[in-house]
Amino acid sequence: MAKITLDNLAHSYFPNPKSEDDFALKELNHVWADGEAYALLGSSGCGKSTLLNIISGLLHPSQGRILFDDVDVTAATTAERNIAQVFQFPVVYDTMTVRDNLAFPLKNRGESPQYIAERVQQIGAMIGMEHELDRRARGLTADAKQKISLGRGMVREDVNALLFDEPLTVIDPHMKWELRTQLKSLHHEFGHTMIYVTHDQTEALTFADKVVVMYDGRVVQIGTPEELFEKPEHTFVGYFIGSPGMNVISADVEGNMANIHGVSVGLGQSYASMQGKVEIGVRPEFVTLTDGEGLPVKVRRVEDVGRHKIVRADLFGKDINIVANEDTSISPDMNRVIFDPAKVNVYENDWLKEGEAA
Ligand code: ADP
Ligand code: MG
Repeated sequence: MAKITLDNLAHSYFPNPKSEDDFALKELNHVWADGEAYALLGSSGCGKSTLLNIISGLLHPSQGRILFDDVDVTAATTAERNIAQVFQFPVVYDTMTVRDNLAFPLKNRGESPQYIAERVQQIGAMIGMEHELDRRARGLTADAKQKISLGRGMVREDVNALLFDEPLTVIDPHMKWELRTQLKSLHHEFGHTMIYVTHDQTEALTFADKVVVMYDGRVVQIGTPEELFEKPEHTFVGYFIGSPGMNVISADVEGNMANIHGVSVGLGQSYASMQGKVEIGVRPEFVTLTDGEGLPVKVRRVEDVGRHKIVRADLFGKDINIVANEDTSISPDMNRVIFDPAKVNVYENDWLKEGEAA
């Protein structure tokens, strides 16, 4: 297992990148702590696979260095880096049995037949294929083949890191949950450094100790699930995480007050004056619908989602979402909202602005 350091890393798929836009991965400095489980989360095309392939050595970065435990591996191959990587779609040897597919990485390393037999049995059980070990991979479903790929990724105990690139995409929903749980227990057991790429926030938040959120080729925040929820450092993190995501509302901010279309809203902190685009962010969980004072809203729809209700409303021509208790009855005269001041974040040009105690 290893600590992985990215030093001034950037990548462009163009031979002569001219501007920042030409970079699929913008300049990045980051240390992945030894033995930690990370999720790399972001929407399609934001650069997740690019970053993962640079870490594994499949892709050579146009700029910067990669260090494993302070040793520069930028020029090293994947094999030299001693990494296991699982891709979105199955990579299996069709003519081999499931058992031989799983045993392959261990045979390559010259492990003893007895150890291989035991380990393959154990991994076979983890991926729920212990009764199919003697079947040939050919003819198995995509789902089963992907489980073999996952198993092959997990079979070696001595890798520096385990990298997963959206590995559960072709797996059926029930098995997804099961396999994710297995991956987590594998992490607890062996303490590998793991990076798990996904575009699914639920997957990211349930799998990882730390979530690395990417947006448009950039890492915009690294934090625990709680940190991403409480203090999104970028408006993208705010609305990408949470369901529904954070409400982002244009405002003028002065001191500890925000002004939204002439209505004043109290903030938990006091802010220095800002340049450019100023917005406040408040999660639907911290917005309360009321018939008293507050910002005027027009309720459009109420969705009952079991443990709570999601109220879809209009605030000065823009959407606003409110999460209400399941036993709150929503009457027509509830046409105002108030925010919990301590839970309102302030953003300047999309980045979180730190305030001072008001
Ligand atoms: P993600 O895995 O987050 O969906 P990728 O890392 O695959 O994103 O892609 C990031 C960006 O780089 C996208 O704009 C994509 O079109 C581009 N890209 C990815 N692979 C290549 C490639 N081999 N050649 C050129 N552009 C690429
Ligand atoms: Mg990808």
